[in-house]
Amino acid sequence: MVTGSSRAAETVLRADAMLTPDGPVPDAELAFGPDGRIAYAGRARAGSVVSHDLRGHALMPGLVNGHTHSAMTLQRGVSDDDGFMPWLSAVQAMEQHLTRDDVEAGLQLALVEMIASGTTAFADMYHWDVGLLDLVRESGMRVLAAPATFAPDRVGFPGVSPMNGAETTAFTEELAERFAGDPQIRIAYGPHAPYTCPPGFLRDLAERSRRTGIPIHIHLSESAAEIREIGDRHGVRPVGHLNELGLLGAGGGGASRARLLAAHCVHLEDAEIALLAASGAAVSHNPVSNLKLGTGIARLPEMVSAGIRLTLGTDSVASNNSLDLFEEIKLATVLHRGARQDAAAVRAADVLDIATRRGAEAIGFPETGSLEVGRRADVIALDVRGAGAAPFAPETLVSHLGFTARGADVRHVFIGGRHVYAEGRHLTLDAAAVVTRASRAAERLRAAAAARG
Ligand SMILES: [Zn+2]
Repeated sequence: MVTGSSRAAETVLRADAMLTPDGPVPDAELAFGPDGRIAYAGRARAGSVVSHDLRGHALMPGLVNGHTHSAMTLQRGVSDDDGFMPWLSAVQAMEQHLTRDDVEAGLQLALVEMIASGTTAFADMYHWDVGLLDLVRESGMRVLAAPATFAPDRVGFPGVSPMNGAETTAFTEELAERFAGDPQIRIAYGPHAPYTCPPGFLRDLAERSRRTGIPIHIHLSESAAEIREIGDRHGVRPVGHLNELGLLGAGGGGASRARLLAAHCVHLEDAEIALLAASGAAVSHNPVSNLKLGTGIARLPEMVSAGIRLTLGTDSVASNNSLDLFEEIKLATVLHRGARQDAAAVRAADVLDIATRRGAEAIGFPETGSLEVGRRADVIALDVRGAGAAPFAPETLVSHLGFTARGADVRHVFIGGRHVYAEGRHLTLDAAAVVTRASRAAERLRAAAAARG
């Protein structure tokens, strides 16, 4: 039984509809305690003291971005239409001039954009340090942060940090220790990709992962060029290559813990899908980035059928150009239907689950991602009163969230019960100042890249 005093201490949201593991609930109430955990999720109860009357809104779990490089918001719109190699050159030309201050400005811009479009947790691979992780914590968001590496002797971001790959690996382990048990921060190793990292480096990380329990976040089988390159060098495909190096068995462990998080996996054969499923690896599906960079269409229906642990990602803004996960949700549903001429190829309900509950589990936050008693209250409220939402009915909530909703519809965000976005206004970030700072940083980087190439 719930006592009067604990009910009084609860934060209570009332909304027209709510997405729960059992489907849409009309006339909904969500309550969470001071510990930020959901105490009630269901139909409105008589006698509840409503803290936030969100009539005209629908509630759903916060969205999970399973693969991004958040600081690359500064490269939004760089070389959009010039093909893959010119795009990569333009991005790298800017990164040569990147400073620690730029990374901070880009990260903060991403935090503003992600929260405002309903994302509450993200998996990131880029430069990370204690100060940047503290910024994420202050914003209220959750992150699986992977300091990016390429090789033991290679300095990843020369203008940002003097650390080479070996030093970054040691630093990654220090960060994991420092933030152990933090409900908002998790740390991963971040070897960039099988074609950029030497085999010995990857084998060492697999051994470390088994020993430390720290997961590995890597790009995998993104393009046909990668398949050819790994084949030429090692005589296997990329998934087999990582398997030989011990990465697919990295740690084993429970299904709730992220071990290998592989971004893209566009080019997979049946046996590779089976291997990834059996290994417990998580795959991040990034449909917009794969289409924009012309790398292909991942086999999402087969990955769903095989039971692969899945998450949905935007990849960086430089290859997207948005962090709005509602775009990915709709595209992940309709893309595979069109490509296969099969309107039943992917279900919106499955994609919404991948974007929330399954994504949260895949990136190591299994206590979130679902509006049910005991989970941490990561919840967003979308306005459903607009013409573009009408006629809205609670029983059509999955359809609305899967095909109609956009990030701009998000009006409130709570993460672990903390109100971080209210009525379209940030409560933890100075959005205007962040936009100004990031715009200046991007302008300087573009000018430096243009001047020195
Ligand atoms: Zn990426």
